[in-house]
Amino acid sequence: MLHLDQIPFPEVERLARSEKALVILPVGVVEEHGAHLPLGLDSFAAEVYGESAAPHLEESGYEVVIAPTIGYGVARAAIDFPGTLSLEPETLKSLVADIGRSLARHGLNRLVILNGHRDLGHMKALDDARAILVEEKVSQVLCVGFTVDPALTAACYREGVRELSRSARPDREGHGGEWETSLALHAFPGTVKREIIDQLEPNFDYDVDAFQRETKDYGTLTGGRGYFGSPQSASAETGGKIVEIRGRNIARVILNAWGPPEKRQERG
Ligand SMILES: [Zn+2]
Repeated sequence: MLHLDQIPFPEVERLARSEKALVILPVGVVEEHGAHLPLGLDSFAAEVYGESAAPHLEESGYEVVIAPTIGYGVARAAIDFPGTLSLEPETLKSLVADIGRSLARHGLNRLVILNGHRDLGHMKALDDARAILVEEKVSQVLCVGFTVDPALTAACYREGVRELSRSARPDREGHGGEWETSLALHAFPGTVKREIIDQLEPNFDYDVDAFQRETKDYGTLTGGRGYFGSPQSASAETGGKIVEIRGRNIARVILNAWGPPEKRQERG
């Protein structure tokens, strides 16, 4: 696994010639995740899952290149919380399409957009960028992580994870709750305000439909708390398992869609 911003240009020439390069572009956002978690959580999550998926893809013959993370996204539901920043969907779409075109110009034309942030406008913008690149015949592009396709999102993030829950209401865990807190405790513990987690009352009693459809903002839905579920059910151990499972899930989704690199020509 290589990080694009850490290699010199001849290495990119070599990767392009190998025809085995697969670029993962992690995408996140700057958004509140409760008083205990950092604003950049979804960006960090996308990076962690990308790095966890990479070895599985390399076992199948790919050379994985991680592109610098897009740390900004569309975040309308939480926009009233201090620090939450939002792009217009058009901006995100153009940004991703521009990056895809630039990568392809240098022969890196297999692109996986790995998104760590659930927001309908954000996910749609990423899918629109994918469609543009495919339409222009610039790249093979796949959206994974949180995507416009709920079945694909579940295959990446939910499969094998729910049974790890220690929450009283696993069905009510979401943004800033058990999963994201566990991930943070495992993968970027220095950013977590551990001392306040035990004081955070579980938030199980919210309007799930409004959360999923984004018809109400996070402030209203959480009574100003900013998280859904129970952060106190989280553990670093659970976080480690989540990273392993989701990395494997994401690699499987990619391999199901594309197969190993040798098959590329035959598949067209
Ligand atoms: Zn999140």
